[in-house]
Amino acid sequence: METSSLIKVTKTENSKINQVDFDNLVFGKTFTDHMFICDYKDGSWQTPEILPYQPLTLDPSAKVFHYGQAVFEGMKAYKDEQGKAWLFRPEENFERINKSSKRLNIPEFIKEYFLEGLNELLKLDSAWIKSGQDAGNALYIRPFVIATQAGVMASPSTEYKFIIICSPVQAYYTKDVKVKIADYYSRAANGGFGAAKAAGNYAGQFYPTKLVQEEGYDQVIWTDDTNHEHLEEAGTMNIFFRINDTLVTCPISERILDGITRKSVITMAEKLGITVEVRKVTVTELIEAANNGSLKESFGSGTAAVISPIGTIAHKDNVWTLTKPEDCYSAAIKKAILDVQYNVAEDTFGWRYEVK
Ligand SMILES: *Cc1c(COP(=O)(O)O)cnc(C)c1O
Repeated sequence: METSSLIKVTKTENSKINQVDFDNLVFGKTFTDHMFICDYKDGSWQTPEILPYQPLTLDPSAKVFHYGQAVFEGMKAYKDEQGKAWLFRPEENFERINKSSKRLNIPEFIKEYFLEGLNELLKLDSAWIKSGQDAGNALYIRPFVIATQAGVMASPSTEYKFIIICSPVQAYYTKDVKVKIADYYSRAANGGFGAAKAAGNYAGQFYPTKLVQEEGYDQVIWTDDTNHEHLEEAGTMNIFFRINDTLVTCPISERILDGITRKSVITMAEKLGITVEVRKVTVTELIEAANNGSLKESFGSGTAAVISPIGTIAHKDNVWTLTKPEDCYSAAIKKAILDVQYNVAEDTFGWRYEVK
């Protein structure tokens, strides 16, 4: 194996791979043998390293613990039947983590470090990426940045760590998702940081999500913070509605995360001949469509599951159940995207990126 000129690599002497049951994985609980880490100090990113996966030692006053200065990404690597590993649109993740970082006053990372770091890490842990499209076998990749400077003064950190860890996963959801539309809590506001993939955006949704889970739902569909009248996203997924035969999703705004799966769904749906409208969708319109039967499908889009069909939608005391139509859009779009990710279909849009 060639060693990268940019990255210092220390290999593990004790691979854990033989202790892992790859057919019974719990999402995000098992991690591979190595991790990528790069420190920022004295005004610049230092030499990146790949190390055996290990705990971090941080000062208890490190800023990330007190002020939540942290951003992350979520991406996947797939292995085809010939044993080649592929990433899906990794440059989009790189651009997005820097966009998130900028909003949280974190220094932007270096593209070569990111792409080469990923490449070296995945080569080293390649045995952890299992082929198997039907089982949804893949490697979930979690890049993240945390503020590590010691000291509880409320000011941006001068030191950071950019880290990448990887977790083998299988297909995510099997059951259709039950969602409840938010009518009181908000995930994001104008001028806020809802468009950043920031740790704090998740912390803020755990409590309202727990409340809907106590009522039997899985997730909240967030609405605009002013009137709770515009449908926005699901907090880990962007959302789509099929009204009659048109697929509708709301435009990206500063309150909504610009999902890479969302973009890919729009492009792929159009390629499949489906009409897509990117426009605002109101709660009133959705209720009307659910009541008159023109709401035929709804689904969330995100890296973890690609597409998660929504089976139940609730708003206040009203509940609607959706039955999948014969010509199910979500299943067709999901299959078409998975076929690109697993190197089964032609890559018309240049989305695949070979690990080599
Ligand atoms: C990550 C994320 C998504 C989905 O983005 P993908 O790039 O498709 O994985 C949607 N909403 C929020 C809030 C997210 O953090």
